[in-house]
Amino acid sequence: MMKTKFYKFVGIISLAALLTTCAGCSSTASSTVDNTSSKVYARPETVSTFEDAKKLLVEGNQRYISGNVLNDDLSSKKREELVTEGQHPFATIVSCSDSRVPPEIIFDQALGDIFVVRNAGNVIDPVTLGSIEYGAEHLKTPVIVVLGHESCGAVKATVDGGGEAPGNIGNIVDKINISLEKVKSSGVGKDKFYEECENENIKNSLNEIKKSSIIKELEEEKKVVVVGAKYDINTGEVTFSPAE
Ligand SMILES: [Zn+2]
Repeated sequence: MMKTKFYKFVGIISLAALLTTCAGCSSTASSTVDNTSSKVYARPETVSTFEDAKKLLVEGNQRYISGNVLNDDLSSKKREELVTEGQHPFATIVSCSDSRVPPEIIFDQALGDIFVVRNAGNVIDPVTLGSIEYGAEHLKTPVIVVLGHESCGAVKATVDGGGEAPGNIGNIVDKINISLEKVKSSGVGKDKFYEECENENIKNSLNEIKKSSIIKELEEEKKVVVVGAKYDINTGEVTFSPAE
């Protein structure tokens, strides 16, 4: 049985909120409505397609940009609900550890909504890839997003350090260096160099994820789509790359 979860919302029901109450996605509902509020945000519990998942992320990002966030339920009741019902996130998101890029906040999602894997530079190593496979295969998220961002310190450190860094940071730089070398050979100008390295680093992580046999199989079965996205730390906007 499919259900609809309700989240507390003080304010005006937005078009986005109305759109996410998708027809056919709900039959019963549990509610955490504040009595002082007459407005409710509903998210379908079962989100099984890439299109629906991306739509929820885009709408959440629009709410975040506008300041009309909906998912502020950090109550014990909400936690209990997630313990009882288990987690059913609708997206696996691989993002940079940058403190300005928290996926739950910039996509305005609630506890239990998104499965997040983070490291400096949003690079892919076996442990990261294992977490991504877990999100897609076990938790059945229909989308995997590699979320890079503008003004990425990890990318800048790689470029400025000429592809070298001390200690374990070197492991991150080694990954980003692949993109740095590619951009160098493309002959891109100085003004676009960091930006192009960030973009190429997102593409490289997408390629690394797509090498996983588990992800390949899920892609072939149309159960998951792997897509890139970039966050603008000035405007708050996330721009998705076209899905391949
Ligand atoms: Zn970063």
